[in-house]
Amino acid sequence: MKAKLMKKTLLWIAVALGAASTAAFAQDASALLQKASIAMGAANLNSIQYSGMGHVSSLGQNHLPNSAWPETTLPSYTRTVDYANKASREELTRIVNTPPSKGGGAPFGGEQKQVNLVSGEYAWNQPGAQAQPQPAAVEERQLQIWLTPHGFLKGALGGHATMKKAKGGTQVTFTAMNKFKVVGTIDDKDMVTKVDTWIANPVLGDMLVETLYSDYKEFGTVKFPTKIVQSQGGHPLFDLAVTEVKANPAPLALTITDAVKNAKIPPVKVESQKLGDGIWWLGGGSHNSVVVEFKTFVVLVEAPLADDRAEAVLAEAKKLAPNKPIKYVVNTHHHFDHSGGLRAVVAEGIPIITNEQNKAFYLQAWKNPHALEPDALSKKPRKATIVAIKDKYEITDGDQKLELYLTSPNDHNGDMLIGYMPKVKGLIVADLFTPAPPNSPAPPPVAMNFANQLYDNVQRLKLDVTTIAPLHGRVAPYSELLKTIGKN
Ligand SMILES: [Zn+2]
Repeated sequence: MKAKLMKKTLLWIAVALGAASTAAFAQDASALLQKASIAMGAANLNSIQYSGMGHVSSLGQNHLPNSAWPETTLPSYTRTVDYANKASREELTRIVNTPPSKGGGAPFGGEQKQVNLVSGEYAWNQPGAQAQPQPAAVEERQLQIWLTPHGFLKGALGGHATMKKAKGGTQVTFTAMNKFKVVGTIDDKDMVTKVDTWIANPVLGDMLVETLYSDYKEFGTVKFPTKIVQSQGGHPLFDLAVTEVKANPAPLALTITDAVKNAKIPPVKVESQKLGDGIWWLGGGSHNSVVVEFKTFVVLVEAPLADDRAEAVLAEAKKLAPNKPIKYVVNTHHHFDHSGGLRAVVAEGIPIITNEQNKAFYLQAWKNPHALEPDALSKKPRKATIVAIKDKYEITDGDQKLELYLTSPNDHNGDMLIGYMPKVKGLIVADLFTPAPPNSPAPPPVAMNFANQLYDNVQRLKLDVTTIAPLHGRVAPYSELLKTIGKN
């Protein structure tokens, strides 16, 4: 009896000690956060504005699967963050590098001005008078508020943060917006030097977003880094040399229009257009696909964006050619907007044809966890089958034919396939040429170069093309390309 009581008492002591040590742990994190808040001037900071110059790159638009994201220059950048109202305004000017970085994402000429906003549950862009709703951007723009140096301290202080000793200081962890794990490093001078988080990406899964803050200087009542580098998915995405910081600037006073308030992410829509015998072009969204029907099977060219678009175009292919299996899905190039639906293809057990340079990248990337936004493949894992092709591949049943060619030169992407369908003299092309609406001005030099390279490839391969079935825009006669580049 005595022994039993003793055991019970010891158990209670252990429980009490456990609780005490957990409490001490959390308390330590808030003491450190308080100390850092004082050191960095966060305590009385409701909003901050910082300006500078640097670079911004395009995620998932690199020239080859393992090269850096293609970069543009930021001659000017200003961001205002209102912590109390969970609002942010980012104003920047981008110019294409000289020479342009190889890759996608910068099809503009001259200066491109952007004004990107978020306020609570609304996001919009407003480079001109008209607000452009961006409902899909709300979450990441909100998260970016908590990744700023002072935002991190505020978020961690209100977020039951835990801490542990780590390389370069103390690591403090909290969960932002009830979803995102945020891990910041506070150094021995009580400055926030690094903030990590993970966001969902259709290709890379739970993708690391790492922001480094260095060269802190005093700006009035706050200390702020004069160097900011944010990497996403393993490559730098944004860097800024900070030249000016204002603590508690004039309030943002944002007006949220009804259009912004009522905006919804549009539902997936697929509209097919018959180009000839057993050949359909699938539009209805920002990214198109092509279905080619053979005697005993079907081939789908492109499963873009993410699961929802890919599943919709796969379903359309099955509807257009019922009772025939989809033998292959062709992936034109690895850019994330064109490869984000491939995991849905793997989930259906359909082999993927792509250039050989992409195979190792996909197999590696698809191993990443998808805990933030589980997709079909993460819910039901399956082994991918990749048909890795070199410079030419032909699918034929003796009547219908789809020819695939690796493009070179191609400054947009070094692993891009174009498709040729002899039956309709049709060319399937992504990104090198997008037929413009009537009476559009001439494309900027970057896009003109891509269009010329498409023409060069068609000439090199001696393809007899009359129709372009583009993976952006609308079906158009080949003469539109010739006219654009002045070859008619
Ligand atoms: Zn591309």
